[in-house]
Amino acid sequence: MELKSSHSSPVLTDPAPSSVNNKSRLGLGHSSLYHHHHHHHHHHHHHQQQGASFSPPKCILIPRKKPAAMLDDVRSNGWLDAMKSSSPPRKKFMKDFSSSLDHHHHDDSDSSWMLTYPSALSCFSQIMKKAKNKRIAIFLDYDGTLSPIVDDPDRALMSDSMRSAVKNVAKYFPTAIISGRSRDKVFDLIGLTELYYAGSHGMDIMGPNCVKSIDNKQDKEVKLFQPAKEFLSMIDEVFRTLVENTKAIEGAKVENHKFCTSVHYRNVEETNWPLIAQCVHDILKDYPRLRLTHGRKVLEIRPVIDWNKGKAVEFLLESLDINNKDDVLPIYIGDDRTDEDAFKFLREENRGYGILVSPVPKETKAFYSLKDPSEVMEFLKSLVRWKEKEEA
Ligand SMILES: [Mg+2]
Repeated sequence: MELKSSHSSPVLTDPAPSSVNNKSRLGLGHSSLYHHHHHHHHHHHHHQQQGASFSPPKCILIPRKKPAAMLDDVRSNGWLDAMKSSSPPRKKFMKDFSSSLDHHHHDDSDSSWMLTYPSALSCFSQIMKKAKNKRIAIFLDYDGTLSPIVDDPDRALMSDSMRSAVKNVAKYFPTAIISGRSRDKVFDLIGLTELYYAGSHGMDIMGPNCVKSIDNKQDKEVKLFQPAKEFLSMIDEVFRTLVENTKAIEGAKVENHKFCTSVHYRNVEETNWPLIAQCVHDILKDYPRLRLTHGRKVLEIRPVIDWNKGKAVEFLLESLDINNKDDVLPIYIGDDRTDEDAFKFLREENRGYGILVSPVPKETKAFYSLKDPSEVMEFLKSLVRWKEKEEA
């Protein structure tokens, strides 16, 4: 299997001789997801597959790009306001957060929200009823879903027990991590080779067992799909220009995330924030196909491309290579706004379930809810128990 993207409309191609054998090579016959550990290696490529897997879709089309909004001035367009408001200090946030928990404790709106988005744990058997005679595919966000939300993103580590829960789930179900982080970063944090990794909000997708160096030299397949590949050199150029242009601003930190470059201003004096904004603003004038998003004390520059976590899920589901989409039950677990694209896709297509991770009521397109990563872990363990019982 080769995941390739062409320039304007990424297309997935198979190496000519292997396309017929995709299913057997990947151990993905119609019932093989249930017997993923008995791979049929009919093909001469000895695939190092461990987990259940997806196979490539025939073709994927990316809709035409939208024109970037023109920006005029960092003051008039509200950048500085956004920079100031985007990053509430953690302490204040936690205070608001806990008081809203207290406040909500006996609130009627809370219980009505839980009626609309019931716990995926208490509704577990109801969900599994829908999974009867279907293959379950698992999609997981990372931050706030598998790991706790912390101030320093480098310290957002998942627990060993969570890691083994994910590992066990991947033994039985094709499992993909869909994160806003770069693919390399999210792989470093998780470290399980049997998963699919979709980094940069799904712009950088890689299949199992390709993230680490492959021990079997025969297996040279590249299972990579990058719908925004054409932007790589552009982002790199912007990164280098920004490093140069911000080097005089103390505390500014520019990072290259491959499909996104970011300028951190956490450690920059607030009086210098207009300088940061101006640098980024000037860059965007030269690159109409890039746009700005505001993160937590960070300005992010990313491609204008109609691609999101929902499209990534759609892409990965297509790669299940099945005749009837009703054969698969996708379950997507995530906690933030970017996960809503995936929830929305599943809801609108009437395929599977989104599960929102949130301790408080929130507007969402998900079907179910879980309160925190520990409940996510419990849900993953339940899936494994259910599967083991079913196979027994
Ligand atoms: Mg998240």
